[in-house]
Amino acid sequence: MTAVRAPGAPGAPIISDGRLVSTSPATGAEVGRLPVAAGDDVTRAVARAREAAGWWAGLGFTGRRERLLRWRGVLARRIEELAELMHAEGGKPVPDAIVEVLTAIEHIDWAARNAGRVLRPRRVRSRLILAEFTGHLEYQPYGVVGVIGPWNYPVFTPVGSAAYALAAGNTVVLKPSEYTPVVGQWLVDSLAEVVPEQPVLTAVHGLGDVGAALCRSGVDKLAFTGSTATAKKVMAACAETLTPVLLEAGGKDAMIVDSDADLDAAAEACVWGGLTNAGQTCIGIERVYAVEPVFDAFVGKVVERAGRLTVGADGADIGPITMPGQLDVIRRHIDDALARGGRAVLGGADAVQPPYVRPTILVDVPEDSLAVREETFGPTLTINRVRDAEEAVTRANALPYGLGGSVFGRRRAVAIARRLRSGMAAVNSTLTFAGMSTLPFGGVGESGFGRIHGEDGLREFGRPKAVTRRRARSLLPAMTFERTPADVARLVKVTKLLYGRRR
Ligand code: NDP
Repeated sequence: MTAVRAPGAPGAPIISDGRLVSTSPATGAEVGRLPVAAGDDVTRAVARAREAAGWWAGLGFTGRRERLLRWRGVLARRIEELAELMHAEGGKPVPDAIVEVLTAIEHIDWAARNAGRVLRPRRVRSRLILAEFTGHLEYQPYGVVGVIGPWNYPVFTPVGSAAYALAAGNTVVLKPSEYTPVVGQWLVDSLAEVVPEQPVLTAVHGLGDVGAALCRSGVDKLAFTGSTATAKKVMAACAETLTPVLLEAGGKDAMIVDSDADLDAAAEACVWGGLTNAGQTCIGIERVYAVEPVFDAFVGKVVERAGRLTVGADGADIGPITMPGQLDVIRRHIDDALARGGRAVLGGADAVQPPYVRPTILVDVPEDSLAVREETFGPTLTINRVRDAEEAVTRANALPYGLGGSVFGRRRAVAIARRLRSGMAAVNSTLTFAGMSTLPFGGVGESGFGRIHGEDGLREFGRPKAVTRRRARSLLPAMTFERTPADVARLVKVTKLLYGRRR
């Protein structure tokens, strides 16, 4: 999804006197203002982060673990304050914000506790061919990691990269979304409370051009979370200097409801997975495929639950759409689905009432319609009937996106989940893989590549460093000009003996 701006609408960022003014999408009230990074500000921030990187790496895994656990403690103790700020700035209901911060806290905790185990130097076994050597492997920090984050999960997404990068020994320069800079700055300030010595996490604020400047600033790695369109620009900019990138991009996740699914559990998870955070979730369920025998009963249960949800600013289940320009996208997707013969069994043509969108459930929507093919990012779901699970998998896998997914069922559910062309899948739940810090998070295809979270997420922020060390004289000298013809003959013999078998 590309950032669509509607200047003047509540929530649309404004730049005034060199400051980025952040406002509430519900009321338009100012939430805070921060200096826009101008001129060389981004390169200066990266230079400061580079100075800090040596000190931070020098703390070692134990020192960093202690600091990061203290940061985790600050977030846990001030969770209500941060959730209220997220609500004010992005419109997210406070309970959703609490869940988001809790998930981020869990990731900080796991990354801090496990970085040493996963990344520190270890001996690696050699094989017969180089038996006289030992191998040593470690994952060394890149140095400075640039993190670019979106607005929809302004704590979970930057922390998912930053906590793992920091635990691995890097310092981080964060470019928060222009829609949620105040939350981004809160994260930076809270870490500075427990790491006052050096700027190990700093923020640069502004619009997309500041993100583009960060890509070209000389960072050693760039971790991007945002839309597929911007991910391509980020990769192109980073290609100029061969800066490695990690891209967490958009999605159009599918849920499959099989014939032996618990329909109440499936409906509950579907409504949550599709409509939480007003549907503005990268791994949110956007399309559902339910098999024919359970289709009607399932749709009825979804409509009943989604119809109960409240919409509004404070205390409601569904808050405002954070990015005003997205309202047009959501309206267009609903109109297109209806024009092509889809039916609204809840909400529909008049669901968009800025800055809110009422829950909308669309059924029998043609597979080539916008609501099935493109990220809607609103509290809408398409539910289509399929003959069987096989057809559901084919349809689920038909899009270029491949982020997450969900399967409800008993007998075949795990096998179906394994066949989804996606980086993640949840069986008999939705979105849960995001909170499991031991599992990697990321997509395939147009949803990006690289992984945050888990052991893979830690390794993403360390360069593998391989060292071989001689222990004894070579019995089979190969890598030397001093080998003799007899040595080469022995090499041929050994090669055939070791690897020449037919199977
Ligand atoms: P955008 O791609 O519009 O923006 C993401 C970030 O990139 C923002 O900080 C933005 O700054 C910045 N940016 C914009 N232009 C450039 C540029 N040319 N170079 C570098 N950075 C730039 O995404 P949204 O903020 O709208 O976020 C929603 C999208 O993020 C959805 O597609 C969603 O699926 C995806 N997402 C993916 C996740 C994942 O883990 N895979 C998780 C969460 C969201 P600014 O805001 O100032 O324009």
